[in-house]
Amino acid sequence: MKILAINAGSSSLKFQLIEKEQIISSGLFEKIGHDDSFFTINQKQEKQIIKDHQAAVEILIEKLKEKVALTDITAVGHRVVHGGDKYQTAVLINQQVINDIEQLQTLAPLHNPINLLVIKLLSKYFEKMVAVFDTSFHHTIEKPQYIYPVPYQWYQKYQVRKYGFHGISHQYLSQKALELNPNLKKMIICHLGNGSSITAINNQKSVETSMGFTPNAGLMMGTRAGDIDFNIIPYIMEKTNQSLSETINDLNKKSGLLGLSNISNDFRDIPKESLAYQKFVQIIVDYIAKYYVFLNGVDAIIFSGGIGENAHQLRYDVCQKLKILKIKIDQNKNKNHETLIHEISSAIELYVISTNEELLIYSETKKIIERETYERN
Ligand code: ADP
Repeated sequence: MKILAINAGSSSLKFQLIEKEQIISSGLFEKIGHDDSFFTINQKQEKQIIKDHQAAVEILIEKLKEKVALTDITAVGHRVVHGGDKYQTAVLINQQVINDIEQLQTLAPLHNPINLLVIKLLSKYFEKMVAVFDTSFHHTIEKPQYIYPVPYQWYQKYQVRKYGFHGISHQYLSQKALELNPNLKKMIICHLGNGSSITAINNQKSVETSMGFTPNAGLMMGTRAGDIDFNIIPYIMEKTNQSLSETINDLNKKSGLLGLSNISNDFRDIPKESLAYQKFVQIIVDYIAKYYVFLNGVDAIIFSGGIGENAHQLRYDVCQKLKILKIKIDQNKNKNHETLIHEISSAIELYVISTNEELLIYSETKKIIERETYERN
């Protein structure tokens, strides 16, 4: 069964065409809507102005046709950022699901509209499509963890609660870690990329996570502030005369590594001695320590995402600050980016695992399609 896994972001679109866990074709459209947009398909890069997601989808369809007949593709699986309270697993997309994703736009204004647009664009070519939600994996988080200490009616009337995001990646990584060591029960997964989040896992279930009502909560990120005192917002609005949306934009797009360094949101550009680097390391350490206590001990810490997979110095600095937990990192293995980077005597195992959200979108989509075919027959 050939499945097309789609991962659309605000200015990007990733895809993998997969059959029996093997990638037939893969690619990435970047900087969509910008003058310097380009795409890379099957490792070949082409520069081309991609004015919007519709243009990206049209190129994608043409490129796919060079490899396979579209009718050979059984289904398309879409990453959808927000599934709200309702979607605890992946679902076959029908009009009701489309309406719900549309409704949830108010909770994820930066993400769900793009997901929906790409679903609509691809529905012209494919009949069977599945939505795989980034929030679903976190539905096992219990109420004391997901509730905010605000008027309870905000939760009852307006669904104000922690949802958690990056669930597709955290689920994939927890499964991968378990394949590597079937005895792992308690894990802390650090997905550190442009967007970053940390999740506590117990018996393959998410029990706590750093992102919240929106993906701008928890850790500081490339350009996002993460958790701050909310009173800063009206204070800055008054001091600068800027609007609420401008201030929120500063917190989403001009904060984090970029905001503190004034250099870049790209981790590779951030000097190790800078305040931005120090702060980022400390926040990661704070979350790991907090989740270590919450889980009552930890078997493994997993590093992933562009930063987690590549920045050996950051992994080393984080582990050094957690020495009290008897973590021992093996610097040779760490510098070589090996999968296991702890010393044998370490009380906690340390893993570096590449995330692959598209592979999880594929397997979830396959499950739904197989079940649907079985029920229909
Ligand atoms: P996204 O959240 O957009 O999927 P990624 O997971 O690709 O992002 O991570 C992007 C981040 O990873 C950037 O900050 C980038 O600087 C960082 N990164 C990529 N390669 C390296 C590297 N070799 N060393 C350190 N950081 C890296």
